[in-house]
Amino acid sequence: MICYHPEHEMLLDYASGSLEEEPSLVVAAHLAYCELCRGEVRSLEDLGAHLLDEAGSSEMETGALDAVMERLDSPIDEDPNALPTLKDPVLPGPIARYIGTGLDGLRWRRVGPRVEEALLVTTNAKFKTSLLRIKPGTVIPSHTHRGREYTLVLKGGIVDDERHYRRGDLMLADSEHEHRPVAAEDEECICLAVLDAPVRFTGFFTRLLNPFLGGSSPR
Ligand SMILES: [Zn+2]
Repeated sequence: MICYHPEHEMLLDYASGSLEEEPSLVVAAHLAYCELCRGEVRSLEDLGAHLLDEAGSSEMETGALDAVMERLDSPIDEDPNALPTLKDPVLPGPIARYIGTGLDGLRWRRVGPRVEEALLVTTNAKFKTSLLRIKPGTVIPSHTHRGREYTLVLKGGIVDDERHYRRGDLMLADSEHEHRPVAAEDEECICLAVLDAPVRFTGFFTRLLNPFLGGSSPR
């Protein structure tokens, strides 16, 4: 049961092809879990196709038209969890295809006593995109954000502000909120994190790099 979804505007941008590559990866991976949002994106794409018919392609900028057509061509009706080239029990198809390997094929580095991070190579330098592997029960120190951070849970869970994010749920964080997420106790947590601010504004998990902040629960 998916409880936390991308905002409507994000799905609209995704459906119209105007969402940038990195947040698009977040949406595509969420869609792999979420039938509700798959239905919404399909409706938006149908609407986009209808509007294209109505408007006539000559009135649209070429780039915008190409972007929409590219989105319309993408096979959203295929089984989005399918992993055609590799077997990975955790990664949804869109992420596995994007990185071209499974979790074990990534270069993990320790960013705290209980957190490992694997940076993903993406197109836009303004985004920091990574997979995070967090030991059960790890407490992330209280902090705020300067940009927006999208965190999609792929395994395990995160509890934040009394909300429990599980597999497929999307956690949004921005400069408005101070928060203190905790990895759920039952199993390790793996998530995809995309931060839309310059790299120097590190994401909340990389705050663990600062030894004075600590960042792990005493276990
Ligand atoms: Zn959804």
